[in-house]
Amino acid sequence: MRIMSTIVAVATPPGNAGVGIIRMSGPKSVDIISRVFPFKAVPRVVQLGLLRFVCSRHSVEDASEAVRTQSKGDITDDVVVIYFQGPKSFTGEDVVEIQAHGGSHLLGRIVDGLVALGATPAGAGEFSKRVFMNGKMSLDQAESIIETIHAESDTHLRASSAVMQGQLRARLEAIEANLVDISAQIEVVLDHPEFDDEASLIAQIKPKIHAEAMQIQSMLHTVAHGRLVSGGIQVAVLGRPNVGKSSLFNAILGRERAIVTEIAGTTTDVISESIHYNGMRIVFNDTAGLRNSANQIEQIGIQRTRETVVNADVVLVITDNSCGVDDEIMSLCAGKPTLVVRNKCDLLTPTLRNGRQGDAPTTIFTSAITGENVECIKEEVFKIALSGVPRSQGLVITNARHAQELQGAHGALLSSMSGDKTLDMVARDIADAVVHLGNITGKHASDATIERIFAGFCVGK
Ligand code: GDP
Repeated sequence: MRIMSTIVAVATPPGNAGVGIIRMSGPKSVDIISRVFPFKAVPRVVQLGLLRFVCSRHSVEDASEAVRTQSKGDITDDVVVIYFQGPKSFTGEDVVEIQAHGGSHLLGRIVDGLVALGATPAGAGEFSKRVFMNGKMSLDQAESIIETIHAESDTHLRASSAVMQGQLRARLEAIEANLVDISAQIEVVLDHPEFDDEASLIAQIKPKIHAEAMQIQSMLHTVAHGRLVSGGIQVAVLGRPNVGKSSLFNAILGRERAIVTEIAGTTTDVISESIHYNGMRIVFNDTAGLRNSANQIEQIGIQRTRETVVNADVVLVITDNSCGVDDEIMSLCAGKPTLVVRNKCDLLTPTLRNGRQGDAPTTIFTSAITGENVECIKEEVFKIALSGVPRSQGLVITNARHAQELQGAHGALLSSMSGDKTLDMVARDIADAVVHLGNITGKHASDATIERIFAGFCVGK
């Protein structure tokens, strides 16, 4: 598909900053720029320019008039212009980036002016979509741009950059090529009805299909790790009021985030904050203390506590010297990996402490006041969340869509090897697997799928 429009958008986040970048991509980019600045855009050269605006009612026509004449205008900004000549550009088209001062009103006015000169405001994810449509990247690579932008930990960046560099694409293309080879072998036989030993061919190709299914399975093994990598390890901080949940939450974060008082029921909503540990993001969710309260706000808070526990990867059950872990709390976190933390250990004498040591196998004694064992909480949470989760130093599948398609491809290959399949049926299963793999790289993805994926991105990306 040939793309004719020239799109423009602010590429930097909304709000005011030192510098803001406007990106324009498409065949008219250079022409538009030549009508704004008195110089010829030179590829890959940083050029300084003076932008002029008419101070008026901010209409698009005014902006156009100002930039068209290049002389009028009582508002100016010094900007930097960089021209990336297609196809050696991000989108594969002629791209011009303007770095201006990063005021949101100023950037909006510049975009208005460029639109008045013939550019079209970019839709959500349209730049990344063009990267894919123009063959600069596969669909999974284009999706990984967004993951890279949103990544909040080193492990997530490592995973998304591996996909962006084409590691997933390369593996999928290799599997696909092998499957196409197997299909070709089948086709030859199907085209020659005189060949009557289907069974021997099936026996011959089965190990080959199995090898490809194993390849896909090894990627599927990384999905659980990938979910933690992309979403962070979610921790619910749970317990009765006043045991020190918020104090521990603050001690873990190293700052006073939650309000701490001796009044029970201070925390009525879930407060979430992240830390980094061993390259992973751990999200601690401080919850409302569990108790029977008639207060409506507290009741809603307690309901949210329950939901937080359901979505948690690890539950930190906080107790203190006044209460242990009761049945209600234990039933709430049933089935969830749980770490019991006995807080306020600074108030325990050594004898009392030894007496309570055997409370539960995974009990940590902490003090939010002295900081004792607060680091151990991070370490234990990390260990618990990742125990039993196969980890990969290489490719990690972090995208749920990719995981689903891999699952589909794997299922189709398993089906091709199951029972008494005719050669024809085996061929159909293999073709099905190839389609699933192609949905990831975009080779076989429908227009609707492509639209849906990029519509989930933001404008300017
Ligand atoms: P939450 O209701 O469970 O969130 O408990 P808070 O964090 O609000 O703390 C309740 C009270 O216990 C406050 O007065 C805190 O100063 C106190 N507290 C919390 N942690 C400790 C601790 O480790 N040792 C001591 N001695 N007091 C603590």
